[in-house]
Amino acid sequence: MFKVTVITLYPEAFPGPLGVSILARGQAAGLWQLDIVDLREFGLGKHHKVDAPPAGGGPGLVLRADVVAAALDSLPDDGRRVLYPSPRGKPFCQADARRFAKGDGLVVLCGRFEGLDERVIQSRGLEEVSLGDFVLAGGEVAAQAIIEASVRLRPEVAGNQASLEEESFENGLLEYPLYTAPAIFEGQEIPDILRSGHHQNIAKWRLSQSKELTEARRPDLYALYTLSKPHQTSEMDDDTD
Ligand code: SAH
Repeated sequence: MFKVTVITLYPEAFPGPLGVSILARGQAAGLWQLDIVDLREFGLGKHHKVDAPPAGGGPGLVLRADVVAAALDSLPDDGRRVLYPSPRGKPFCQADARRFAKGDGLVVLCGRFEGLDERVIQSRGLEEVSLGDFVLAGGEVAAQAIIEASVRLRPEVAGNQASLEEESFENGLLEYPLYTAPAIFEGQEIPDILRSGHHQNIAKWRLSQSKELTEARRPDLYALYTLSKPHQTSEMDDDTD
């Protein structure tokens, strides 16, 4: 059982998309579990205060280290990875999702306001993970993205392993273009090769499409791909040109 605990000031933001489709079925089947902890319950005083102005001045409010530590320490010490979605983190990628999916579960602490007191990040060993180079109002959407990407890779949750292996990023490339019924859409036909029934040629065509797309849209990924597969790349180019 893969256990996920989210600590948030906005429990009503959950389960959100984590409560539909394969993740919902997986949870109903007991393959993973989502627990939501309301950070407000650990707030101080009559008003359950969770924040205070930044030391040294500046705009906004910062989540208090003592409040966040109390919430984290209320969870059993079961060795799960503790993530803090943050624009300062390493950008989240498919390899991280695979790494996270291999463990026993995740604890995700959602930030709000200006962020979180540095001391609790250090003392509780929080792993900062960014969704990308932009700033959200809180960590909830990032938590959902990270949890969804990780849980769908659990073998028992994802019914069809083959579809996972073919996906964008799994081979270092973006996915090839997909087509389905109808055969003709607004005068545009499905490429002939996909109707040829020749599986080897189809696989070659898909790989060359993936490479073209990746080179055009994500030169950074393409450079890594060619570094990791110098021989295959030139052979396939000879075959498909
Ligand atoms: N002042 C901070 C941003 C705070 S945004 C800074 O400049 O770095 C409030 C909260 O939203 C953060 O604590 C974090 O949990 C979440 N958040 C915002 N942008 C994010 C991103 N790109 N990835 C992951 N979490 C993010």
